Amino acid sequence: MASTAGKVIKCKAAVAWEAGKPLVIEEVEVAPPQAMEVRIKILFTSLCHTDVYFWEAKGQTPVFPRIFGHEAGGIVESVGEGVTELAPGDHVLPVFTGECKDCAHCKSEESNMCTLLRINTDRGVMIGDGQSRFSINGKPIYHFVGTSTFSEYTVIHVGCVAKINPDAPLDKVCVLSCGISTGLGATLNVAKPPRGSTVAVFGLGAVGLAAAEGAKMAGASRIIGVDLNPKRFVEAKKFGVTEFVNPSDFDKPVQEVLAEMTDGGVDRSIECTGNINAMISAFECVHDGWGVAVLVGVPHKDAVFKTHPMNLLNERTLKGTFFGNYKPRSDIPAVVEKYMNKELELEKFITHEVPFSEINKAFDYMLKGDSLRCIIRMQEE
Ligand code: NAD
Ligand code: ZN
Repeated sequence: MASTAGKVIKCKAAVAWEAGKPLVIEEVEVAPPQAMEVRIKILFTSLCHTDVYFWEAKGQTPVFPRIFGHEAGGIVESVGEGVTELAPGDHVLPVFTGECKDCAHCKSEESNMCTLLRINTDRGVMIGDGQSRFSINGKPIYHFVGTSTFSEYTVIHVGCVAKINPDAPLDKVCVLSCGISTGLGATLNVAKPPRGSTVAVFGLGAVGLAAAEGAKMAGASRIIGVDLNPKRFVEAKKFGVTEFVNPSDFDKPVQEVLAEMTDGGVDRSIECTGNINAMISAFECVHDGWGVAVLVGVPHKDAVFKTHPMNLLNERTLKGTFFGNYKPRSDIPAVVEKYMNKELELEKFITHEVPFSEINKAFDYMLKGDSLRCIIRMQEE
């Protein structure tokens, strides 16, 4: 075991003291992992739009001070009591939704909604004892979705940690810890487009482009990208997107535009925006009789999905997913192998890179709509 095992570690973390205010790099104390927890040295983390929503806290419950971050790669530093599947030195990806391997969901082949460890965005403490493992001068700093990877060290429940191939470069595969696996799985595991079908993707950020990549892998013949940001159309061809629609170019609802383009509607659509109107359009643009829409974006806490029930009676299906229905511990190692076997390219999702000291730049890039994924290097070279 590392010499730090069982001791408090002092390290740097980016603390969000208030909603929407730049993160501040502080020295924090990270308590040792308790039963069924592991402490991880984070090497790389990246920014996902979900971090930005909860940091802005405009449409989400504010929980501050908090350490955000959930897309990352690292190495196990020490393990708590009862942890047998992980050991110091293991290479891991933390995941915001867990897999206890024991509940009805974990035992079901259809679900990844673990009863014990499913995503909970309002909880800021560990589930074991209801305490935070982070503090500054004895005052607790809250966790975010059980991961809090904007810290050089973090403590995570063992069920939210996927052990991966130690040869996989963590500065690349860290993006599989949330966004890319989510988009890919939303298409491959949930929408399941038949070969030759037409797929619409709403929102061409990293999640949506990963969904497009999944559609390409599944053999879709037309992939229609829908986004309000025309910058997003430039690179989207690399991800298999064949046509583009900007809803602001039309004075009718985008679902009507798509229906005209496709002789009645697309076969599958995947919504990766978080915008409620895009969610409704993504559902209403699928073909009656067989169309399937999958919602991925995280909505405003007061959002209400409104559509005429006839849209469903006419044999359209509406689904949603967290983490592309992947079970983090059981399925993610194999997604990492897809990258290792060159079946899945990750480099094209990584548009920016910054040292930890400049983490706020990653927020600026995402808010301006310039970045897909910005990798944050947590450790000094
Ligand atoms: P991003 O900001 O990089 O991309 C979102 C894209 O959607 C942007 O290009 C934006 O211009 C576009 N957009 C916004 N409103 C739109 C509208 N009304 N119509 C068309 N396009 C619109 O974000 P990201 O990191 O790719 O994440 C995408 C979404 O997925 C976010 O809502 C995020 O919270 C969510 N997410 C969900 C899960 C899950 O498990 N369900 C996991 C990760 C991320
Ligand atoms: Zn995410």
